[in-house]
Amino acid sequence: MGDANGRTVGSGMRVLVMGGAGFIGSHLCERLLVDGHEVIALDDFSTGSPANVAHLMRSSRFWLVEHDVALPFDYEVDRVYHLASPASPARWRGDPVRSTLTNVMGTLHALLCAERHGARLLLASSSDVYGDPDVDPQPESYLGRVDPVGVRACYDEGKRCAEALVMAFHRQGRASGRIARIFNTYGPRMAIDDGRAVSNFIAQALRGEELTVYGSGSQARSFCHVDDLVEGCLRLMEHPAEVGPVNLGNPVEVTVLELAQEIVRLTGSASRIAFRPLPEGDPMRRRPAIDLARRALGFEPRVPLRQGLYATIQSFRRAMAGLDECARR
Ligand code: NAD
Ligand code: UDP
Repeated sequence: MGDANGRTVGSGMRVLVMGGAGFIGSHLCERLLVDGHEVIALDDFSTGSPANVAHLMRSSRFWLVEHDVALPFDYEVDRVYHLASPASPARWRGDPVRSTLTNVMGTLHALLCAERHGARLLLASSSDVYGDPDVDPQPESYLGRVDPVGVRACYDEGKRCAEALVMAFHRQGRASGRIARIFNTYGPRMAIDDGRAVSNFIAQALRGEELTVYGSGSQARSFCHVDDLVEGCLRLMEHPAEVGPVNLGNPVEVTVLELAQEIVRLTGSASRIAFRPLPEGDPMRRRPAIDLARRALGFEPRVPLRQGLYATIQSFRRAMAGLDECARR
């Protein structure tokens, strides 16, 4: 959503990006700077890294602050994007108490900051609020199928509670909220070692290792390129009235086995596919219904999976060769 100069509407604001040194957060910071805003990125570097935003440090409108959002903070800003949370199951399973608190307490502190300064807040929620869905594709009205005491609950219920907090502040007129339900997102600067399907498969293929497909690989996901996702988040944040929740993702579905095969093809790797046990509670499918995003925000994913994967593979090649300034490791 841009004006005549291609800038986001509301140019020249002060924006807080919680989780700004992460995969999606770093792309969001980049875009906000291009659009003419001042950006404060808040991050504890638990799953992100200063290297992801090293190229932004040259800007006099960018600040990077190390802070755990489960603890209070305060910045005089116009907008708060709350992306601070591990996104990879391998990461949030590692410390479920911390994952829960990052989502719940982090959202509370974000809302209190927004309330103090009359700022608008966007919560990066997740398709995980739908759990293992028995409806396909999932519209926002679907209430989900989540096990509140399952191993995924720290993340799923953490996000559900975060959504409830945003709505409570919003309804009480304490802070203006927006809720984005983000589906599987991929692109350059995904952490090579974060255990997700796209990053694992690309790294394994480039190293000539076996690609680890969990279960039979018949479970399906819909992968959205990060540039499309960031555009959707900006549009939702700047919409004058739409609070959400709004699904943001790409509705084109592939099985995990198809994804692995496509990555083998695109990398030209000689890697074989190896089947491993399916993690407990792994959802069988995830596909966003994006009618609301299309109607309310004019959102339309533009990057086809093959093209997006190809660009991501190139960025992984550079990162793994230590050539990319944004490489994590
Ligand atoms: P990421 O792990 O790359 O980024 C998260 C960032 O938050 C990291 O930089 C991390 O260091 C930071 N962080 C985590 N806990 C923190 C804490 N307590 N205090 C301060 N910073 C903290 O993940 P991502 O893929 O960029 O995801 C960003 C957001 O989008 C997350 O909230 C995630 O739940 C949501 N989301 C992502 C996806 C996806 O496919 N990537 C899908 C659905 C939702
Ligand atoms: N997956 C896989 N091999 C891997 C990593 C993930 O088969 O090395 C599967 C995982 O079990 C899930 C799908 O790929 O079914 C997507 O996993 P990811 O962690 O990327 O995202 P999720 O949808 O689970 O949040």
